Amino acid sequence: MLSIRDFIESKKEGFSHKKGEIAEFIKKYMLDEVSEAQMAAWLMAVSIEGLSFKELIELTEAMVASGESIDWGSDLYLVDKHSTGGVGDKTTLIVAPIVASLGIPMVKLSGSGLGHTGGTVDKLKSILNINLEKSKDEILEQVKKSHLYLGAQTSSLVPADKKMYALRNETGTINHIGLIAASILSKKIATGANAFIFDVKVGKGAFMKSIEEARALATTLIDLGKAFDKKTSVIISNMDEPLGRAIGNQLEVVEAIDILKNKSNGDSNLKTLALALSALCIINSKHPCNSYEEAFKLASQQLENGEAYKTFEKTIFLQGGNLNEIEFNEAEFTCDFFSMGNGIISSLDALTYGIASQYLGSGVIDSDKEVIYTSGILLNKKIGDEVFVGENIARLFYDIPRSEYLKPMLKNLDEATIVSEGAVNRPSIILDIIQ
Ligand code: URA
Repeated sequence: MLSIRDFIESKKEGFSHKKGEIAEFIKKYMLDEVSEAQMAAWLMAVSIEGLSFKELIELTEAMVASGESIDWGSDLYLVDKHSTGGVGDKTTLIVAPIVASLGIPMVKLSGSGLGHTGGTVDKLKSILNINLEKSKDEILEQVKKSHLYLGAQTSSLVPADKKMYALRNETGTINHIGLIAASILSKKIATGANAFIFDVKVGKGAFMKSIEEARALATTLIDLGKAFDKKTSVIISNMDEPLGRAIGNQLEVVEAIDILKNKSNGDSNLKTLALALSALCIINSKHPCNSYEEAFKLASQQLENGEAYKTFEKTIFLQGGNLNEIEFNEAEFTCDFFSMGNGIISSLDALTYGIASQYLGSGVIDSDKEVIYTSGILLNKKIGDEVFVGENIARLFYDIPRSEYLKPMLKNLDEATIVSEGAVNRPSIILDIIQ
């Protein structure tokens, strides 16, 4: 029988675990035979000493086995797109309808936001009456009609991750690449997809702060995906400034709709990234197109001919929502954030903007502060834009329960927004594509 103390000590000393030990450890943890203190100690030992690739596979398998896994049947070949978490990242709402509009089935089961990063489920919940909890049979029925279902991951998938993630958050062990890869991959495997496209974010608002770290996570995700026989590709994308112009649930849905309607006011970075992710989804699916360039063109065409928007509208309708209602439903209060100088915007720190939006209502803070779906921030300027004294950089949307945070958040935004005198280049959104 496994001695938990010896198991933790051996990782602390830098040894590899024997085959089967990690599986037993996770199993015992789920049965409360391993305490939270013991799990925290092991996570810290792993953060310092690392995990071999074999250990990482065993950890991922054990995490998957902690809950249910969905089997969609052999008729459905599913591609799944997943982001490692960013600010203003509403690409799923654009990519999924683009891909599905080509007849490629997509069942997108998403989570809620983690900290300052928004989650797709919270964005979808801003659509009145939407049903994000259809049964498997209902989902299969819907996929026959619109090729797309957008819903919430249930807590029965990878319950080990929920417990471990909370502990990692409390113990400073969030940023370990192996633990992140096992956390992400286990949830994706349990949702039953056949191929994965990961958007690994790098920059001020992301878990990965340097391109080297992002590449290391990307290759770990690809290797791990392949070890589970899943086609896996990664885009590394910039998260120094928020993605697009909207941060906050309903505001982001409205921005995604503008892109899907191919409106010319759409943010070029957001559109480029969404098209690139769509292209990878297409070539990793069973669609006959397997050149990235052709798939990118195909994806653009689905925006231009209105098919992607039609698929989104139909999908939301099939899930009980109505897109026409949300554009008019604004937050109770707004406050404009003005520029104090003349020049070019050189920094809009995504982390600070993400936290400000979270505190104004778009994310949970304590368990008693619920999400307010209409709250958030709309950026009038992005990095590289010219700005004059007194000009509006951003508009903040908030409601009474969070109004106490307005003043401190304005102060933080002031520090996080830099206006420079010289020319500033807008950073590229796509930093690498690894297949
Ligand atoms: N997203 C996850 O699902 N898990 C992590 O550990 C980090 C980002």
